[in-house]
This record gives sequence, C-alpha cells and structure tokens, in this order.
Amino acid sequence: MELSETQANILGVLQEDARVSMRTLANKVDVSTPTASSTVKDLEDMGVIRGYLTLLDTRKLGIHTFYLRIEADLDISDSVVESMIAINEVHKLGELEGGALFAVVKVPSLDVLDDVMKCLKKTEGVEKLKVSRVTKEFKSSGTITPDALTDLSIDCFYCKKKIAGSPVKLELDHRKHYLCCGVCASEYEAKYNRLKEKAGAPD
Ligand SMILES: [Zn+2]
Repeated sequence: MELSETQANILGVLQEDARVSMRTLANKVDVSTPTASSTVKDLEDMGVIRGYLTLLDTRKLGIHTFYLRIEADLDISDSVVESMIAINEVHKLGELEGGALFAVVKVPSLDVLDDVMKCLKKTEGVEKLKVSRVTKEFKSSGTITPDALTDLSIDCFYCKKKIAGSPVKLELDHRKHYLCCGVCASEYEAKYNRLKEKAGAPD
C-alpha cells in the first residue's frame, strides 16, 4: 500500500513535535483540521504511530551510553534476545548481518554497567561480549523525513499476514480495523463481538 503525501507530511511534523496542536498540524501540511485529526487517528489505528514519547537529554541526567556487541550461540540466540529484552538498561537491541547482536545500553553508573555485564555473561548462549563506551554522540535522530515515507505495510488484524493491495477496513467502536480479505474481516468482526459480549462492554 502507498502512504499518501498528507500521511507522510503529518508523520514528518509529529516526529519533530508530537505535542503540536491539530490546528497547527493542519496548517503545516495544508489540510483542514478535521482531515488532519482523522489522518492521525487512522495512523494510530493502523499502528504506524506507536506512541508519543518524551525525549530526554540523557547527558544532563548523568546517563552513560555503551555499545555492546554480543556473539551468541545461534541455536539459542532467541532466548538470548529474550533475556536481553528483559533488561531495562538495554535501550536498543538488534541483529547484525552474520548473526551477532548489538545493543545500546544506558546506565547511571559503572556499577550498574557491571551488573548488566555480569547478568549477560551468565546468560546461557552468550559466547563473546564486547563493550565500548560511547564518548561522543554526533547525531542521534530518530526522525525519518517525509520524502522517505512512501510505503505502508500493515499486517491483517486477524490472520497477521502482511496485507497485499488495499485492505478491507472495518469500523468498530470508532476505530478502524484492517483486514486482508472479506473472510478475515467477517471472522474478525465475529471474534470482536464475541469478546465484547464476554467483557460485557456497553455499546
Ligand atoms: Zn487476514
């Protein structure tokens, strides 16, 4: 699916300032206020907008950043990933080409880093651990420019498979739900209503 220019521009503005008012947002992307707010709602419903965070200047708060490279037994790397996700100090975790993992760890002191390292060394499957202190951050940007935002890929809310082509949209309780086909849509709606009935939610 393609992302519309308005959607891309809205994402551009919101990444810079998530607290922008709907009126200002609408002005900036040159649409009406209702269009801006319904587009934001759609992007939230689709799960493209995952949340609105507060950015902190971690240096001012005495937080140190470390970059870790972890080589793990590939057979059980899933469980290594799981253990690492559970560590609060791990802020970013990914897999590199070749299978090694990398992590960005943020800690208030070296003692805490020691604890994290001890915990990792004890984790079954961790074979090699390399840690480097990040001494300077020249750029740390999480924003993606609207020009780069062209594709929209959402998973069917029912079968979880990637939706190819246009999705079937189902509006339930003022929220849009995205399905890959008519069959998934009717199954999803039935399941949705069953769950709702069970929960005894008012209509
Ligand atoms: Zn489906």
